[in-house]
Order: sequence, then C-alpha cells, then structure tokens
Amino acid sequence: MTFYDTVYNDDDKYVREIERLKKSQQEKQKKIDELFKQKKNEYSQNFTRSFKRKIIERDKECQLCGKKEDLVVHHISYNRRKTDKNECVTLCRSCNCRVNKKSEREYWRNYFVNKLHYQLNR
Ligand SMILES: [Zn+2]
Repeated sequence: MTFYDTVYNDDDKYVREIERLKKSQQEKQKKIDELFKQKKNEYSQNFTRSFKRKIIERDKECQLCGKKEDLVVHHISYNRRKTDKNECVTLCRSCNCRVNKKSEREYWRNYFVNKLHYQLNR
C-alpha cells in the first residue's frame, strides 16, 4: 500500500461518515417537521396570533399570579381544537406549565370554571 492509497482510503472513510451523518440529520429533520405538523393539527385554525392577543388584552395579566409579562393563552378545557374566548384564559408561562401537568388537569379545569366563572361551551 502506497502513501496515496492510505490517503484515499482515509478520505473514503470520512466521506462515508459524513454521508451517514447527513442521512441521520435528514431523518431527524423529517421527524421534527412531522412533530410540528402534528402539534399544529392539535390546535384549531382559529387559534391565531390575533385571537391570542385579544384574550391577553381582555385578561391583562396572568389569572393565577398576576404577572404581566411572558403571557400565553391557556385552554381551560385542555381541548386545543376548541378555540373560543370562553375556553381560554391568560396565564404566564410558568403558571401555564403548572396547570398543564397531566395529574392536576381536573383540578385546574374546575378551578377556572368555578372560581373565575369562565363558561365552557361543552
Ligand atoms: Zn402566573
């Protein structure tokens, strides 16, 4: 084996490794795109930026802790396909995490319906 053979063989090794990584990158990107699509499909088409802005303008602050920044719109019924102003409430990002815990959803659903008198259109 000459010096040049060794270099070419090594090159092949790198090219193969690069190709392998490119392929796995493409597969990852495909999975990411698919997950984004699935997430988007979970929401109603009416859940737009302007809808969310209206809810936040109505509530003005997090309805749990009163924070005025980093606000998001929470679905009281946890049904993201139902986008109605009576189904949605303004929370800050950290309270939203709190109320989205699977084990506590029933509690928080009742909390918003009873204490804040939001009416769910079931
Ligand atoms: Zn909060």
